[in-house]
Amino acid sequence: MERYWNEEMERMDRKSLETLQSYRLMRTVRRVYENVPLYRERMDAAGVKPEDIRSVADLHKLPFTYKQDLRDTYPYGMFAVPMNEVVRLHASSGTTGKKIVVGYTANDLDMWAECCARALTAAGADSNDFMHVSYGYGLFTGGLGLHGGAEKVGMTVIPVSTGNTKQQVTILKDFGSTYICCTPSYALNLAETMKEMGITKDEIQLRAGLFGAEPWTEEMRQDIEDKLGLKALDIYGLTEILGPGVAYECSAQTGMHINEDHFIAEIIDPDTGEVLPDGAQGELVFTCISKEAFPMLRYRTRDIVQLERGVCSCGRTFVKMKKPMGRSDDMLIIRGVNVFPSQIESVLLSLGNTAPYYQIIVDRVNNTDTFEIQVEISPEMFTDTVKNLEEQAKQIREAVHTTLGIQAKITLVEPKTIPRTEGKAVHVVDHRKLH
Ligand code: ADP
Ligand code: ZN
Repeated sequence: MERYWNEEMERMDRKSLETLQSYRLMRTVRRVYENVPLYRERMDAAGVKPEDIRSVADLHKLPFTYKQDLRDTYPYGMFAVPMNEVVRLHASSGTTGKKIVVGYTANDLDMWAECCARALTAAGADSNDFMHVSYGYGLFTGGLGLHGGAEKVGMTVIPVSTGNTKQQVTILKDFGSTYICCTPSYALNLAETMKEMGITKDEIQLRAGLFGAEPWTEEMRQDIEDKLGLKALDIYGLTEILGPGVAYECSAQTGMHINEDHFIAEIIDPDTGEVLPDGAQGELVFTCISKEAFPMLRYRTRDIVQLERGVCSCGRTFVKMKKPMGRSDDMLIIRGVNVFPSQIESVLLSLGNTAPYYQIIVDRVNNTDTFEIQVEISPEMFTDTVKNLEEQAKQIREAVHTTLGIQAKITLVEPKTIPRTEGKAVHVVDHRKLH
């Protein structure tokens, strides 16, 4: 039977939910207008007053905010409470440019833990379970975010953080963890290390894992479930809005429910900013309606997703977001064709026979884009004949061509050539940006 952490919220009828959202939105807009100069200036410039926002239907009147706004006001310019009310800071890993800094009040931390507790309960966890946290602890939100949620549920939390993968396998086995959270790439890294250590999935107790912080495909889900013998659930979040727990998957495994009593989601056309109808694919935009220290209004996530309304088989009424394909800035344009790394992951894993490790290398030679995919062969294939390997490369080349409509050079590389990661995987090396 489906269990809920907060049934009243998670199954609230849409009309009551909208009333709650409207009330919280109004309050938030008024507060940030008074306390955050950037919002006041933007709203004044757009001719919008706080009293113009009376319900969710007025949301579209508000101006957007962007990652650049957070950089321009670095570090604390967009905080909406005095610093003595802020009890925690986090920052984005800053893979692209200057770090952005966010803050939480005690109430914010409690709300965050609640969002993660909902995700864990949806995954079937309760206070009898052990939680192995291999997301990084530190400025990155992954570790401490899920840590707080697991403690709220009453699980026995093992704060392992990243690194020393062999030791992590030993801990997993000896401490009897039933739940794990980390990036999907690291889950595979753990599975591979387990195999090298001669430990089978029957020797560990894992029942489910919450994996997120990077895009991953259905094929990768299957692979992780097979190798670790667990149910793999998706969890989504971003530093600017909260960290993990903005949206979470239920037993249906068909998308993530957005915690809509705290965050309002919109889908817009990334080029025109126009709000798109339900079901359309576009850029996800979030508005925080219950946060105190750092409430973002209409924040452009750059994540490309689709929303799905309607009651889910799990009974939750929150809107679901489909698996994000990646951020718009992860999208490569190769010879005029849009390519998401996740499309290549899908092709590779559906063909089988290769290890789920790949890297896309793009360059520009004589004004033409070159497109190479380095694919690691599995240790089993390594001893295969050259002819078989050539056949394998040909199959991949054809499948990539069918999916994307462009030709790629496929290079099979030896096992363990592609760097393993403890956090987010790096799938693209774009030399065009470096010239
Ligand atoms: P950084 O911006 O430094 O990478 P964040 O942890 O804030 O650090 O990254 C958040 C981003 O990670 C999201 O905007 C999204 O692109 C990606 N992400 C998080 N969870 C998922 C998920 N479950 N599926 C796909 N992408 C995800
Ligand atoms: Zn559901």
